[in-house]
Amino acid sequence: MKQIYLDHGATTPVDKKVLASMLPYFSEKYGNAMSLHEFGNEANKALEKARKSAADFFGADKEEIIFTSGATESNNLVVKGVLRAYYDNIRSNLPKISSNLRVPHIITTAFEHHCVLDACKAAQKENLAEVTFIKPNKEGIIFTEDVKKAIKPNTILVSVMYVNNEIGTVQPIAEIGKLIKNYNSKLPITNYKLLFHTDATQAINYFNCNVNKLGVDLLSMSAHKIYGPKGVGALYIRKGTAIKQVMDGGGQEGGKRAGTHNVPGIVGLGTAISMINDQGTKNKKNEILKLRNYLIDKILKEIPKTRLNGSKIKRSPNNANFSFQNVEGESLLIMLDAEGIAASTGSACSSGSLSPSHVLLSLGMKAEEAHGSLRLTLGKNTTKKEIEYTISKLKNIIEKLRKVSGNVLGDYYQAKK
Ligand code: PMP
Repeated sequence: MKQIYLDHGATTPVDKKVLASMLPYFSEKYGNAMSLHEFGNEANKALEKARKSAADFFGADKEEIIFTSGATESNNLVVKGVLRAYYDNIRSNLPKISSNLRVPHIITTAFEHHCVLDACKAAQKENLAEVTFIKPNKEGIIFTEDVKKAIKPNTILVSVMYVNNEIGTVQPIAEIGKLIKNYNSKLPITNYKLLFHTDATQAINYFNCNVNKLGVDLLSMSAHKIYGPKGVGALYIRKGTAIKQVMDGGGQEGGKRAGTHNVPGIVGLGTAISMINDQGTKNKKNEILKLRNYLIDKILKEIPKTRLNGSKIKRSPNNANFSFQNVEGESLLIMLDAEGIAASTGSACSSGSLSPSHVLLSLGMKAEEAHGSLRLTLGKNTTKKEIEYTISKLKNIIEKLRKVSGNVLGDYYQAKK
């Protein structure tokens, strides 16, 4: 039986064109991009070509793109690097900077990916920052007005994800960008500029990521969500942004990210990102949206006591996330897997832990509801046949699980209380 892959939110297969572009950089063109000889030049040229592709995609300058090991690193660099720059600045410019010497303030959301959330929590624990975690509404949307209300004189960073990785909801990044631009324009010149970051990891395939349209100073992405390789990503850093490297070592990436470049990976990222706006890919987006809507409508209609988590409209075209009453997410995944269907509950990074999804809890769901969620994320090769098969199997599995779950789940939650 052919496996059906409906977990593109976790990772995507490397596109054949992407792979072909990477291959020569393993064993033939294997130079270190920093070396001062022909091998190095060759690798460096490839690196700069990839940087140009990423810069073009984001409407940025080449110098504003740095390569990292993925979105986890990009996001950590944002939170930690902005704080590091702030403290260095404060120390060296004490008399000039009017910004008071209070601990700086960061605004983020309660349903960010753990790499942002935990970096913020760590900074809070170490007394390096105070943090406000804004809650989304029940539909999984952050209100610009709530960001506005949360800004304080010592706020130095706002970080709001573009598309949520679990429920696929789309946040009003351009609107928040305008708010922050307006706020900064009224600040005295000596004040610390409020920076705006978005984690666009799940947005790149489907949404406009022009950094000027969005009004962001920092934007994170990862190659393996866009049919590129794992372990490589990028960070857009607007010129003049106060951020310091957090990894000490060589002077790679303009001193912002030490470590020998992953040349094949970066080449793959460049090819993958340059393919996103192909005409063919654009058509695929509509196909994916149609298939996904069909999936949502059919499941809601045919499986009782089911709900869609997150707004149906302000949502990434490839994401569907359901809660099935009296069904436990892990059992559902195992049974789907036995039928050859790969899906996820919560995000791939969090599964393995039995704690309920922080994303669903942030929408106001109860722990037992948050346990029974299923995320199906479509990709460019998903077919109608696969969706039909998934729906029919899902119906049977949910029925079976509900037959046994009443008692078992009841005991489980009773024991947890
Ligand atoms: N942010 C978001 C929104 C993500 O979906 C992911 C991957 N699940 C990450 C960050 C982490 O990316 P990476 O796997 O490249 O570290």
